[in-house]
Amino acid sequence: MDPATIQSSTHKIRQVENSCLFCRIVAGEIPATVVHRTETTLAFRDIDPKAPTHVLVIPVAHHADVIALAADPSAAADVLATAAAVAEKEGLTDGFRVIFNTGAHGGQEVFHVHAHLVGGAPLGPMLAGK
Ligand code: 5GP
Ligand code: ZN
Repeated sequence: MDPATIQSSTHKIRQVENSCLFCRIVAGEIPATVVHRTETTLAFRDIDPKAPTHVLVIPVAHHADVIALAADPSAAADVLATAAAVAEKEGLTDGFRVIFNTGAHGGQEVFHVHAHLVGGAPLGPMLAGK
């Protein structure tokens, strides 16, 4: 078994009882198009992109939302640094947005914190219709 496989099966043992969708992507149990990876973060393409570039950046460690992430400053900084690295890698030189949907009013649907990195075209008003 090569080291990657051992690593992956270690994750699987650790995550086996975790029903969090994004923890399962981290564990390799659910496929994703990974664009960037660090020891503490993972960036992968959104399954239903809302812009030409739409990448989700997550901490490897499970934090439910941006409030929980803020309590782990090192992980929060790593998520932002990864978002910046992906923006550069994806050639978003004309700008982009980084969005953390939070709670019911924010429309958060997956409760493993994720930064939406969107760009690749003018994004229009910041909020729908405003
Ligand atoms: P939220 O509404 O929680 O801020 O965003 C959740 C995002 O996760 C949505 O943009 C949705 O398209 C994306 N998503 C949901 N399930 C999957 C999946 O299985 N794989 C990937 N790559 N993205 C997903
Ligand atoms: Zn999780």
